[in-house]
Amino acid sequence: MLERPEPIAVIGTGYVGLVTAAGFADLGFEVYCVERRQVIVDQLQAGVIPFYEPGLEEMVRRNLERLHFSTGCGDALEHARLLFVAVGTPRGDDGNADLSAVQSVVDEIPASTRHALVMKSTVPAGTGAAIKRLFTKQGKHGLGYVSCPEFLKEGSAVDDVANPDRVVIGDDGDWAGDAVQALYAPLCARLGIPLVRIDVVSAEMVKLASNAFLATKISFINEVANVCELVGADVTNVAMGMAPDPRIGGQFLQAGIGYGGSCFSKDVEALRRLAENCGYEFRLLKAGTEVNESQKGRVVEKLLNHFGGSLTGRTICLLGLAFKPDTDDMREASSRVLSRELQTSGAAVAVFDPKVTEKTARRMMGTARFATDAMDAVDGADAVVLVTEWKEFVDLEWSEVADRMAGTLVIDGRNALKPNLIVAAGLLYDGIGRAPYSTPIEV
Ligand code: NAD
Repeated sequence: MLERPEPIAVIGTGYVGLVTAAGFADLGFEVYCVERRQVIVDQLQAGVIPFYEPGLEEMVRRNLERLHFSTGCGDALEHARLLFVAVGTPRGDDGNADLSAVQSVVDEIPASTRHALVMKSTVPAGTGAAIKRLFTKQGKHGLGYVSCPEFLKEGSAVDDVANPDRVVIGDDGDWAGDAVQALYAPLCARLGIPLVRIDVVSAEMVKLASNAFLATKISFINEVANVCELVGADVTNVAMGMAPDPRIGGQFLQAGIGYGGSCFSKDVEALRRLAENCGYEFRLLKAGTEVNESQKGRVVEKLLNHFGGSLTGRTICLLGLAFKPDTDDMREASSRVLSRELQTSGAAVAVFDPKVTEKTARRMMGTARFATDAMDAVDGADAVVLVTEWKEFVDLEWSEVADRMAGTLVIDGRNALKPNLIVAAGLLYDGIGRAPYSTPIEV
């Protein structure tokens, strides 16, 4: 790291932008953050984080002196050359990535030979080239452009930014690429990780292909799980036997009720649309998405089977609303689909999540009852479904759960619970890709 690192700017202070900004500030950089929403700027200036990410609030607070927040680009342009862009690129109504926030950043940046946009947002391959054409059209000759895709994971983002497994830089071999490389080279050298410096369009593809691969891996093991149920195998045992093969690996080999979150679904769809727009049908991604969608419905199938084909008048408890543990993010979360389908099927739904508040989730949950804690949520439930594998759910006192429930069925949507503990409490355990347990099994 340089002794007096040059200031940088970050545009967009959501999960990626704020963690990136705080990460650089923690390394001693002055960071000029631009966030279009005044209410968020006010919160951040007071050291309040508008979302939950473990360790982030502490990191922001201890670096508040070096973190500067504003709704305008003025300070950022004055102090920094590299402008990291971390605005949202959600799925648009037509399935393509909605690049309107990126577009507004491009429009806002004035002509300059001193500045470069460093794209952290996930964008379709070809976006960098389109932006460079736009710069030229807008008379902004000399503005630099670098692709620097982000691979952090919500829930462990602070650690991911400090300890990435690679840094990918896509550029035209100019000063801006050199400057981004200089920024990351000390970290890569210290951690002994690759710094992959390639062309812009390839860097853009790295991000889409990585997320599409991981999503496909999840859908693959979910299909294996469905076959396991038919042949009497246990997918957790199957995964245990597959994982030691280094060509396969154990990560993302946990079967469950499908992936959610802001990235996988939209990035898979963005890659599929990108291919389609170029005249190529990416069949594997279409199938993977279909598997993911139908996987969420397997819980409803299991409940219908258990309750004789009807859920009318039943109360179903959903443990967990966030798309995964250690975040309060509900974008594309399985809980949303499940809650809707269960209510459509006539069931009453009770929900609880340690971090997602009723204020955030109310409009997504229909008439569901928001419980005050896990035990309140299971109270009177005919069945309990583990939707998000928060540790506090895994560690529940199952005999107490059994006392509070009206019924006996526990569906483990993440294969995260210990079947023997659940059946020992007199409950029926049903996971994904494993036979239902009603009595303890010898392992
Ligand atoms: P987010 O929605 O949490 O944050 C985006 C922020 O940008 C918001 O605070 C928004 O108000 C702000 N913003 C929008 N337009 C702006 C503008 N013109 N000027 C200033 N601020 C503006 O999004 P996120 O989850 O941080 O994702 C950002 C990008 O990073 C996306 O492209 C996403 O695909 C990618 N990404 C996300 C993750 C993740 O886990 N969330 C991981 C890797 C990559």
